[in-house]
Amino acid sequence: MSEGKFATSISCIDGRIQLPLAKWIKENYSVEYVDAITEPGVDKNVTRDSITTSLKAKATISIRVHKSELIVFSGHYNCAANPVSDKEHIEFIKKGVEEISSWNLGAKVIGVYVDDSWNVNPV
Ligand SMILES: [Zn+2]
Repeated sequence: MSEGKFATSISCIDGRIQLPLAKWIKENYSVEYVDAITEPGVDKNVTRDSITTSLKAKATISIRVHKSELIVFSGHYNCAANPVSDKEHIEFIKKGVEEISSWNLGAKVIGVYVDDSWNVNPV
């Protein structure tokens, strides 16, 4: 019963962003399921060694077992673990996309920012 396409979301743990992200990814990339990998303030913390290792291992499972072909990396407004401006979040997201792309997991990597209306904006 593993029919249906999967994508992978690497996001903050914040409960306000999970549904908007999953909905946006399903609508824009024609997938049925979104695997959720979460870490507080992940846009900032993705480059920390211990966190990088853990995220990479989790993303590998999503890609190998669920055949995900897309990783959506995000940051969001009002992040408790990374309380910076919208502009700074966008810079973190761009760097994070480069970091995740360098893992060479065989999936496309895109970055998005979840704004103060909980809308998802490609970065
Ligand atoms: Zn957050």
